[in-house]
Amino acid sequence: MIVLGIETSCDETSAALVQDGRKILANTVASSLEFHKKYGGVIPEIASRMQLETISGIMESALKKAQIKLKDIDLIGVTSGPGLLGSLLVGISFAKSLSLGLAKPLLGVNHVYSHFYANFLAGEKIKLPFVALVVSGGHTSLFYIRDFDKIEVLGETQDDACGEAFDKVAKILGLGYPGGPAIEKIAASGEPKKIRFNCYGTRGKLDFSFSGIKTAVLYYVKGRRLSRKEKADISASFQEAVIETLVTKAILACKMKKVSRLVVGGGVAANNRLRDKFYAAAADHNLSCYFPAQSLCMDNAAMIAGLAYQLFKKGYRSDLSLTADLN
Ligand code: AMP
Ligand code: MG
Repeated sequence: MIVLGIETSCDETSAALVQDGRKILANTVASSLEFHKKYGGVIPEIASRMQLETISGIMESALKKAQIKLKDIDLIGVTSGPGLLGSLLVGISFAKSLSLGLAKPLLGVNHVYSHFYANFLAGEKIKLPFVALVVSGGHTSLFYIRDFDKIEVLGETQDDACGEAFDKVAKILGLGYPGGPAIEKIAASGEPKKIRFNCYGTRGKLDFSFSGIKTAVLYYVKGRRLSRKEKADISASFQEAVIETLVTKAILACKMKKVSRLVVGGGVAANNRLRDKFYAAAADHNLSCYFPAQSLCMDNAAMIAGLAYQLFKKGYRSDLSLTADLN
């Protein structure tokens, strides 16, 4: 079964062709990142206008790469939320018109869930149930996954998302946007234990809070002229505190749910220090830990197509009343 995936939840425009929910035939991604850089964050209006202009061409190039004709598509899967309203509506409208024009079924997919599904695109056979941690620019959530349509939220951020904290701290330190890769790069030459930052103060044991650490960094640097070494130490110490809280809570979630499989996804999961720390902690606790390829941590349509396939097999369908779901 060939699924065409469409993803336009934030600044990316992506189309993918995935066979039987696992094999990526093409996964084309364009980003309007360059146009947002000077503002230090994504400007929704710029993102959606670029998506409107590029979506057709992106789909064409995916079809060409996969050597698939539109008539050979069996299902159209599209991100229905959460994300930026205008951006989501571009992808949804495009998918709906394709569905109508080609008389092919349509299925709206949750973007956050698709991030952990990215792990299933590497041919990895991960048994259900498992605990999933999604760490992205907009979300930080722990889930208990009994099945692809039986998902329990175990914990989530009370304030900023994890990736958002990387972006804001990078801005404070003048490292540019997006902040995650910039912090990771400079942190490599810093001392992770130099400054004791922490991410305490959550309501639930498995919830997260990242706005306090961002403010702590802000006060730490206030009125100072920082050397490169100091920026590296602050970045490394911040990154370490964030990773520590993610690892601790993800392991605790596995213990509480008595599962031995931990699946991680989302943009922040591309961070190498984070991956190393998770693998080490998982080994200490006899858990199997899974990460997608780094390119699949970023927003892409292959994960949407993959999850759409799984849900379609279970009988889920959308109709032309499908619209953006911001929650
Ligand atoms: P997403 O929301 O899934 O598109 O992921 C984007 C978020 O991931 C942004 O907040 C980035 O700063 C963050 N991110 C990307 N790469 C890294 C990295 N290597 N380390 C930490 N965060 C990252
Ligand atoms: Mg995302």
